[in-house]
Amino acid sequence: MNPTGNTGSSNLSFIPNPLSFENPQPEFVEIVLPLPLRQTFTYRLPAGLQENVTLGARLLVPFGKRFMTGYAVALHTKLSAEIEIEEDAIKEAVELLDEESLITPEILKLTQWTADYYACSWGEILKASLPAGINATVEQIVSITAAGRDELLKITTANTIKVKILRYLNENGETSQRELGKVFGESNAARIVRELTGQNWATVFQRTLTAQAKPKRRKAVRLLPPESHQKSDKPQTEAQTRIIETLLENDGEMLFTELTEKAETGASAINTLAKRGFLEVFVQEVRRDPLSEAKIPEITDLILTGQQSAVLDKIKIALENEKYKAFLLHGVTGSGKTEVYIRAMQTALDKGKSALMLVPEIALTPVFSRRLRAVFGDEVAILHSNLSTGERFDEWRRIRQGLARIVIGTRSAVFAPLRNLGLVIVDEEHDSSYRQHEMPFYHGRDAAVVRANFAGAVAVLGSATPALESFHNSQTGKYEYLQLPNRIANRAMAKAEIVDMREVFKQFGKDPIFSNELLEAIKETHAKGEQSIILLNRRGFSQFVLCRSCGETIRCKNCDITLTFHKRESRLVCHYCNHREKVPHKCPSCEGKFLYFMGEGTEQIENILQRKFSELRIARIDRDTTSRRKEMEKILERFSEGEIDMLVGTQMLAKGHDFPNVTLVGVISVDAGLALPDFRSAERTFQLLTQVAGRAGRGDLQGKVLIQTYYPEHYALRHAYAQDYEAFYNEEINFRKNLAYPPFAVLASILIKHPNYNYAFDNAQILKECLIKNNTENACRILGVAPAPLARLKNEFRLQILIKARNRAALRSTLDFALHEAQEKFCDLRIIYVEIDPVNLL
Ligand code: ADP
Ligand code: ZN
Repeated sequence: MNPTGNTGSSNLSFIPNPLSFENPQPEFVEIVLPLPLRQTFTYRLPAGLQENVTLGARLLVPFGKRFMTGYAVALHTKLSAEIEIEEDAIKEAVELLDEESLITPEILKLTQWTADYYACSWGEILKASLPAGINATVEQIVSITAAGRDELLKITTANTIKVKILRYLNENGETSQRELGKVFGESNAARIVRELTGQNWATVFQRTLTAQAKPKRRKAVRLLPPESHQKSDKPQTEAQTRIIETLLENDGEMLFTELTEKAETGASAINTLAKRGFLEVFVQEVRRDPLSEAKIPEITDLILTGQQSAVLDKIKIALENEKYKAFLLHGVTGSGKTEVYIRAMQTALDKGKSALMLVPEIALTPVFSRRLRAVFGDEVAILHSNLSTGERFDEWRRIRQGLARIVIGTRSAVFAPLRNLGLVIVDEEHDSSYRQHEMPFYHGRDAAVVRANFAGAVAVLGSATPALESFHNSQTGKYEYLQLPNRIANRAMAKAEIVDMREVFKQFGKDPIFSNELLEAIKETHAKGEQSIILLNRRGFSQFVLCRSCGETIRCKNCDITLTFHKRESRLVCHYCNHREKVPHKCPSCEGKFLYFMGEGTEQIENILQRKFSELRIARIDRDTTSRRKEMEKILERFSEGEIDMLVGTQMLAKGHDFPNVTLVGVISVDAGLALPDFRSAERTFQLLTQVAGRAGRGDLQGKVLIQTYYPEHYALRHAYAQDYEAFYNEEINFRKNLAYPPFAVLASILIKHPNYNYAFDNAQILKECLIKNNTENACRILGVAPAPLARLKNEFRLQILIKARNRAALRSTLDFALHEAQEKFCDLRIIYVEIDPVNLL
């Protein structure tokens, strides 16, 4: 049952074997691979590797027809009895990629837990835990043989592609298969190379390419002491004098390029001085620092409020105890949670421990990263996906080497190789971006709590709107509940007002975007010299094209998802597969000519507002801008410095910013989010509204929030504008209980996807039967097979099976046995994606 047939010997246990190190001279290694396979593979260790291999080290191993980087998760002196394979059928590992393992024992254990808990591939999690650019790849290198050269001399016939390739090899020497593919076309190159090696005119061998990311090196210059001068004479030319002086002004050491610039000289003068022993040119490693261009703020020494101190004391006591403990810090927006986090991290550091802080979107909190840099200096490392590969590599290495003991980062930073961990903070713990939305699925917050548990560290989950599950955990005593119920300096919470758009619609007869109330408020705010934020709830809502005759929207031909209109390019775009097309002149379904643009994108809202208020300086933040980190940071900085009057954007804007001069937040079309087919949509909407309201009135000015809606009666809206978390919780928890949703049930969603519908359906059906058969205690409800809410995506059909289980043990036992049995019945597990605790059911 090996997917690729010719592989290392596979151990079909879904639970990976425990780590073991039975003997310093192991003969066999158990490997996990970064493939969606939940199993380990056994390889033999050749003599040279036996002494050097350590747990967590990366090894190059043959797998099927190729070579792959795998991770050593167990070492054995003899084969365990479970492995049903002849000893001599076991393949040898080829190469050890790390003399010292990059993966610490702690991370090995955490990733094993993650893989097991989320029923996903350990190898994929391990790969995700390492910075991009560190993974070795293997290249096929082709070279011409002597026989090939002889043949080339003989050839007089037409210039076939085979002759061309042979010539190319002759002229260029060793050439990678990839390069040949680029020059001659991939399938051509592959076919011809096979022919050439068959005729012995060329040979192929594998070459390992080590990490694409490498430490960055630069030429640098350093002054030498007088005793190394060749002659005791002074520098002669003006340029030489300037060089020495410039160096003296810079502590005697500078980067080469910096020196030529500042001393306004060329390289030759520097080289002359080097020859004469005045200075030395050497190669230096330079760190790629994500904050190198950032303005680091002054440290302000705040005096904690009574509430802050009380909370911090509890955390400090837990840190003293050096035992695992988890807190839920429920603090309203603007209550000063950040200050508590910073002091708690300082305490951990003072005790010689390290600290990890997770944030949902670090790209949105440049202000905060700078603040940490101001307080902790180079002890801070930053990890998130918007860093360049080089920056990420360098930051990761500083953590691994113990040079940075404070890590702030997004989801995958939970696997940062910190040692001696004392504290784990998860800010805005309710945020759904902690959930990885593709394989390997895992939840950053939950993994963080487990990591704290393994390390005997303190976990602090902070939020103004805790996730329902987290608040529930604080009620059952799993977490200790800490509260910051008031804003700093007793600033008032922003006043929320609802604008009933049904009334507005009645009055004006057409779909209005802005109510007069909102337009008035914008005008007033600007007149007072204050700033505003306009938020568009874009989840499932954007501009699309509707036919007024047949009511059809224009959809993606691959995904069956409404296409979004992008004005700037005048194109319809699919946000799932990126398919683009021109705006048609008539409806593709009924050929009707009355196409109607429905819904507003952030771009259009920005344009309309700019037309209405030409004096306002408006900027926009949405998915398009966030992909360009530097640009977005600049916008936020300019907004914070008052150079922009209004920000228009999506939910990104609701998260964690602190702009004291913002006094108005307007929410357009909150309803789109409530209508989604997802049991969390009420919770999401409540959180979004509470968070965005928290952006208003953070300074000494009274803030105001205007929410436009067609459903003002909805409980998520009512409690959000009353700022009443507990009232919302009580209502929502009842709904969850009555309908058996988390935290009262454990969910798993199984997605089966394939371009061929029947293939997907048949496999889904086998799996479903196995699930029913293995639901022995009847503790699971198995729903489906049904089309997934996104029934077609990227040209694949998507079917779904949903399992609701009374408890986790029942879920896992049913699921694991069913998967195992399905595999025996030749169900294709490669097209099956299991998501435990799915966050998003779309
Ligand atoms: P939260 O993260 O809870 O929304 P912040 O930590 O951003 O709140 O704090 C809100 C504002 O109050 C910030 O500008 C912060 O600098 C300020 N602040 C925090 N603690 C104090 C304090 N003890 N004294 C004065 N100002 C404070
Ligand atoms: Zn599409």
